[in-house]
Amino acid sequence: MRFSGLWLFLMVLKIVHDEPACIGCGSCAAIEPSHWFMDGDKAHVRDSKKIGEEEHKELKQLGNNKEAAESCPVNCIHLFENGKKLV
Ligand code: SF4
Repeated sequence: MRFSGLWLFLMVLKIVHDEPACIGCGSCAAIEPSHWFMDGDKAHVRDSKKIGEEEHKELKQLGNNKEAAESCPVNCIHLFENGKKLV
């Protein structure tokens, strides 16, 4: 228990959104509106960094992003924990 806070501090969670593949179904924004929003026919990650055609964002907590990623019909939401792919 003593190191759990340290582990949380060291844990790196990351969202990568493959924006060109997004079909704008709105599922991610409906499930996790604190991290996702719709703009026209695409979803976007709030306060993300654009790298090429992808949006990247580091997270402190997963929230409902795993459920959002699993709901994506074209699998264009990728989640990583310490570099290991979760979804
Ligand atoms: S669930 Fe996937 S396809 Fe649907 S809006 Fe979100 S990122 Fe785009």
